[in-house]
Amino acid sequence: MTAEIIDGKAFAARLRGEVAEQVAVLKRDHGITPGLAVVLVGEDPASQVYVRNKHKQTLEAGMESFEHRLPAETPEAELLDLVGRLNADPAVHGILVQLPLPDHIDAEKVIAAIDPDKDVDGFHVSNVGRLATGQAALVPCTPLGCLMLLRDRLGSLSGREAVVIGRSNIVGKPMAQLLLRDSATVTIAHSRTRDIEAVVRRAEIVIAAVGRPRMVTGDWLRPGATVIDVGINRIEDPEAGKTRLVGDCDFESCAAVAGAITPVPGGVGPMTIACLLANTLTATCRAAGLPAAE
Ligand code: NDP
Repeated sequence: MTAEIIDGKAFAARLRGEVAEQVAVLKRDHGITPGLAVVLVGEDPASQVYVRNKHKQTLEAGMESFEHRLPAETPEAELLDLVGRLNADPAVHGILVQLPLPDHIDAEKVIAAIDPDKDVDGFHVSNVGRLATGQAALVPCTPLGCLMLLRDRLGSLSGREAVVIGRSNIVGKPMAQLLLRDSATVTIAHSRTRDIEAVVRRAEIVIAAVGRPRMVTGDWLRPGATVIDVGINRIEDPEAGKTRLVGDCDFESCAAVAGAITPVPGGVGPMTIACLLANTLTATCRAAGLPAAE
């Protein structure tokens, strides 16, 4: 193996520490405590784990955490009503509605109902448009975390060849926008891309956000490339007789060719909640008319 392992877990811990320090300053100098409201509808097991972790880390950062757990059969109107109350609540600076929502609820309608200034997931069309047009926005947490890891490793991204594999609204598209904002030369690959290996082989930066276990192998990579593996895929591990998590990149073969690579778990995953806290801090500062670092 030649690649440096990018330690997202350690980076995320540092970022959470920085957020906590700034929260302490906000409280001391301005009497403001950032508040994050997380809404969970139903009992999806993975969502329950995420929401529990978000709650714990929000409190650890010195913020207020408002958890709203609603039954799976909650009518859409009731959820929209709750979002409206959270929009109006001055103690709430960030609102996150955990996805996926039950089938009878229109997720787009719910996201559209969130005050864009409190939309710490960055999914509201207003934030999507602001990011695309270069205005101050709240940026989706996972791609923001990837960007931080890339800047930390590479410094300036200006002029670098970047390939994003995946074009979802949650990861791929905002990732491409962020790279473009940093003046990288960006290609977005997806399921219809022809000769994807050749496209990926051009890249100094590869972001894999596909949801296919170990799809990207070392022979797809340009030697020395920086590889950010967003994928979280649970697979059977017959040797251990249980399941385990793998990324969208085949770690062993990619690490033999890449210059640096994020592991799964311990790479991008921990950055997502750390960036959620950073976004909540940003939303709080903007609401108070204070300067906000992104
Ligand atoms: P989506 O399923 O929404 O999007 C997947 C994208 O991959 C689509 O654009 C799709 O293309 C593309 N794709 C699918 N198959 C191929 C293929 N064979 N070749 C090239 N492209 C392909 O997934 P998400 O973006 O939501 O998530 C991607 C991964 O990231 C998942 O493993 C998810 O678990 C993980 N994830 C991790 C997070 C974290 O915190 N670390 C947060 C969010 C997601 P097309 O549009 O053409 O169908």
